[in-house]
Amino acid sequence: MGGSGSGRRGYLTKTTAENCHKVDANSLARWEFFKPGGRNEVTRWSRGGNETGSVGIRTSIDNKRAICVFQYNCKEITVNLSWFSPGYGGRRYFFICPECGKRMRTLFFKKSKIACRLCHNLTYESSNHNYYFDSAYKWMASNTKIPWEAVKVYMRLKMRAAKKEPKRPRGRPRKVRTEVA
Ligand SMILES: [Zn+2]
Repeated sequence: MGGSGSGRRGYLTKTTAENCHKVDANSLARWEFFKPGGRNEVTRWSRGGNETGSVGIRTSIDNKRAICVFQYNCKEITVNLSWFSPGYGGRRYFFICPECGKRMRTLFFKKSKIACRLCHNLTYESSNHNYYFDSAYKWMASNTKIPWEAVKVYMRLKMRAAKKEPKRPRGRPRKVRTEVA
């Protein structure tokens, strides 16, 4: 019993981004919450097939204003949405963090407070390469009017496309054996 341990002490007590309830704007987009008019639905979180919590999400989308109202722990919290058009049609939505006012793709729910990862002071237990290049993307966007998130989306598409390209064969080309009669 016990064993030497993996060195991850306090794993269960520390609140990390992974074990927090969260909502990300891309999922809401996929679930059609950002269609004109909006949508009103209860979303449930689960782990291992068991429900661990739920949140009521009501969006209100028109040309001028986009908001998202969360009903969480008997409280109603209104979060403003921000969007940009990435160029290939449609809109990409972000939450405006109610605490810091920054544009964030993911909001976390902790003790009835809805805020971004930084405002909740959450860390990632596992190193998450999704965030690895963020400072580079910010730098690339710094002299343009393009939001850095758009650079990130663009670069990700490029990287994904590059991965799909056939790999160059490794090593020396194989000698073709010729039979000598
Ligand atoms: Zn924040």
